[in-house]
Parts: sequence; structure tokens; C-alpha cells
Amino acid sequence: MNRRRRIYEGKGKILYEGPEPGTLVQHFKDDATAFNNKKHEIIDGKGVLNNRISEYIFEHLNTIGIPTHFIRRLNMREQLIREVEIIPLEVVVRNVAAGSLSKRLGIDEGTALPRSIIEFYYKADELDDPMVSEEHVTAFGWATPQEIDDIMSLAIRVNDFLTGLFLGVGIRLVDFKIECGRHWENEMMRIVVADEISPDSCRLWDIETNDKMDKDRFRRDLGGMLEAYQEVARRLGIMNENETVTHSGPRLVQ
Ligand code: UDP
Repeated sequence: MNRRRRIYEGKGKILYEGPEPGTLVQHFKDDATAFNNKKHEIIDGKGVLNNRISEYIFEHLNTIGIPTHFIRRLNMREQLIREVEIIPLEVVVRNVAAGSLSKRLGIDEGTALPRSIIEFYYKADELDDPMVSEEHVTAFGWATPQEIDDIMSLAIRVNDFLTGLFLGVGIRLVDFKIECGRHWENEMMRIVVADEISPDSCRLWDIETNDKMDKDRFRRDLGGMLEAYQEVARRLGIMNENETVTHSGPRLVQ
């Protein structure tokens, strides 16, 4: 059997060689991980939901002129993307205090921030992704000052779009993480939004009840993670009311 060439395998996704040069296939796994892989579980159907939710968001970002790596969804678990050179930073945008910011600065979770805040974390599992400043980013050559400007402007535009999108379906966008990459076209390079945007990488709270509809359900052992992701998809109009993503029948051995 002709097997696709695997380029990279991360905690939640696999990248395969794409059908044409300059493309890759991004495959969403069902693995849920937290605390740098110390907590790990298989959540049947999570990959399908994240593929669909991320597709929906990236499609809209492309439509409104925010460049991304996304080309099109291929099937339940996979999407075709442009090959980019990933910048080794997790770019976090926060609107409301939560998670590590609350812990670090002693600000109660749920406190609205005076303005949106952008933070950079250096992507290095062995170091637990330490927070870094723009000084570190430029001094160590992870990105140039111009690239940092581009990344921050993308992050703000994504935040504006996502805040409105989720507010429209009764969800508060507390914070989220994006990754950016350099996309080369002929001699031209531009920074694009890469990776995924899904309830795995956002904090999403129900406007009315403050119920968590994101990966904190898993991190904090609250249960009901798949149901919460399904509800996000349902509110965005992605999944049909009766559509289910869990497999009750036989499963392909991989
Ligand atoms: N985040 C992520 N991947 C990471 C770390 C954080 O997607 O490796 C997201 C996380 O889901 C949240 C935001 O970035 O929406 C801010 O996370 P925080 O710094 O509060 O970290 P945590 O509390 O998850 O350790």
C-alpha cells in the first residue's frame, strides 16, 4: 500500500505531505493533552469537531482578508494547507483574565482586562513553553521587528473577528492562542495565521452561565468536553442538530 509521507506529528495533529508541492495535509487526532502531555486521553470525535470548527474560522478569516495557511477541508479529519515556516511562538491574546495570567498576577478569573493583551511564549516542550518578551524574540532571531508588527496586527484582527463571531452566538471569547508562519510565494514572503483555532486553543465561556466550552473542561476534570465542543459547533451552525461524531461501529485500524 502506498503510504503518505508523514512530515511531523504533534500532540493533537499530524502533518502529511500534500498532493502538490507547497501543500500539506493537516490531520486532527482525537488526543486531548494538557500540562505538556502529563495528562493525556483519547476523546472520541474531538478531531472531527476541531477540524470542522477550525475550518469554519479559517475560511472566514480568508474571506475577510486575514491571510491563513488554510486552503480547504478534505474530509472529516483532514484539511489541505499551505506549507509555511512556523515561527516558534505561541501568540496569546487575552480579553478577560484567566489561566496562567490569573495565576501569575493574582487577578481573579473573569476580570475584564483594561484592554486586550498580547503575549508571546517560546514553543519548546522541554522548557514548558516559557513566556518571552519582544526583546527575546528579536535578540534570538525567532522573528524580526517587522515580523512582530505583522504578527501583532494579525493577532488583533483575529481577536476582533473572533470576539464578534462568538458574541453573536452567546459566547465570550476570554483568550486564545494562534501560531503564525512565513509563507513564501516566488520571492515574496508574508506572515499568515497557521495551525488551528478551536476550543482546544481558545477559552470560550457561555455569556449567560459562564459555563466553560473549551479545553479547560479537560484540564480541570469538569467532564463533558465533547458535548461542549459539539455545542460550540452547533451554535456556529456547523453541525446539524442530529449529527454525531462519535463512532459506534467498527473503526479503521491505523
Ligand atoms: N493555549 C494553547 N496552547 C498552549 C498554551 C495555551 O492553545 O500550549 C491557549 C489556552 O487554551 C488559552 C490561552 O492559550 O486559551 C491562554 O492560555 P494560558 O496562558 O492561560 O495557559 P494555561 O492556563 O492553559 O496553562
